[in-house]
Amino acid sequence: MTIDTERHYVGGAWVAPLSSKTMPIMNPANDTRIGTLALAGTADVDRAVAAAVEAFETFGRWPKAERLALLRRIRDLTDARREDLAQAISTEMGAPITMSRAYQADAGVGHADGFIAALEAQEERWTLPNGDTMLREPIGPVGLITPWNWPINQIALKVLPALATGCPAILKPSEHTPLSAVIYTEILHEAGVPPGAFALIHGTGPDVGDALARHPGLTMVSFTGSTRAGTSVSKSAADTVKRVTLELGGKSPNLVFADCGEALEARVRGSVAECFLNTGQSCDAPTRMIVERACYDRVVDIARAAAEATKVGDPAQEGDHIGPLFDRIQWDRVQEKITRGIEEGARLVAGGPGRPPEMNTGWYVRPTVFADVRNDMTIAREEIFGPVLSIIPAADEDEAIAIANDTPYGLASYVQTGDRDRAERVAARLRAGSVHVNGGGMEWGTPFGGYKASGNGREGGLMGLEDYQEVKSLHFG
Ligand code: NAD
Repeated sequence: MTIDTERHYVGGAWVAPLSSKTMPIMNPANDTRIGTLALAGTADVDRAVAAAVEAFETFGRWPKAERLALLRRIRDLTDARREDLAQAISTEMGAPITMSRAYQADAGVGHADGFIAALEAQEERWTLPNGDTMLREPIGPVGLITPWNWPINQIALKVLPALATGCPAILKPSEHTPLSAVIYTEILHEAGVPPGAFALIHGTGPDVGDALARHPGLTMVSFTGSTRAGTSVSKSAADTVKRVTLELGGKSPNLVFADCGEALEARVRGSVAECFLNTGQSCDAPTRMIVERACYDRVVDIARAAAEATKVGDPAQEGDHIGPLFDRIQWDRVQEKITRGIEEGARLVAGGPGRPPEMNTGWYVRPTVFADVRNDMTIAREEIFGPVLSIIPAADEDEAIAIANDTPYGLASYVQTGDRDRAERVAARLRAGSVHVNGGGMEWGTPFGGYKASGNGREGGLMGLEDYQEVKSLHFG
């Protein structure tokens, strides 16, 4: 399958870029070049915004039944191209193919199901108890900026609600993961998204991302990525009073209590696997394991054994191994953080700096566990974005909660306990957008997002639609 990354998609057609800048596309498993990406400039952004503004005149008034039919076609075509998406994601960012199929590509279909159900259920016109009429309307043309770590998951969480509500969308995916974005654009084209209602523009953050955030023709920008870039997007969007929704980083706590009893080993092994999923490159990964003293030594032993049993391998091979990090910069960053952990006095119990034995090319790292971490150490405060777990002891429930909340972030949180009352009590006190108890996962259509520096807004389902809508009150004399 050839994937054309040298054109953009604007006005319902693949078009030559107006800018001549390019960058190489690399495969992280072997550091070889697999293609060339055409980078947009501001003229490309202006062209896409003009098409979106024009399309809004008609697409913004599409009846709900037509938008629902469009979403259903997108859902079915995404399902039909799961394998293409899974292969593209595995090649461009190193997700092992088995995981890429089960989680990465699957998200494109799952989120479509969630948004279809939400749109079916949502009232776009209703009457208040006082007799006034309320309307929900699309906010207008929107700019969408996504990261490389869960490429189709993030794209679907933005493109689908935009189209579901009648907002023309301009997508700037991560410049590091263009292959899956091109396939998704082919899906949208085949599904019959009208010309101008969707554009794909490749480019870098400071050039194209920032131009979208500033553009006066757009009414909203939805951003997923680092807290650093999200802050910059907010500032750039301020002059045009855009709505800004942000899904940012995390340093999610996982509170482990001795009352897990016989389930302790399974709970800790499951937690380590979740921390290492996607080679640790997930915004909501449970990276800070906060453990009650009464079971601390045992938990450290289980986590060490789980990390040592974690296989690292070629993403093109089927299996339950983890793959490489997505590029050299990320590899250097993770090495630096592991070294900082050792220097700051954490106890290294598994893994460590460098590549796993006999893996000399590709951006592979060793599954790493630190114990005796203090919450003021760099490895407890900063996102590492690699398979690195920090274990922190806590005297009791109160101290565990205090440590959990002592972070600038608030995306996800996790609790392992055999006591349902404790789970409810702890969940109520955690300052995070989601609480996963004993491995409980999130269903499609449940809103996802963070407190504090992890962002604002919620993606997925009904609340995800509302981010793209204005409400209007209508008063009859
Ligand atoms: P990043 O911030 O470097 O880039 C994300 C996107 O923003 C890319 O498309 C990039 O080109 C663009 N960008 C970069 N600088 C920009 C700027 N100044 N103005 C406008 N756009 C800009 O992040 P990344 O390395 O691609 O992704 C990893 C980060 O994303 C992690 O911090 C992770 O936690 C976060 N993330 C959050 C969620 C969530 O839902 N909360 C989901 C996935 C990833």
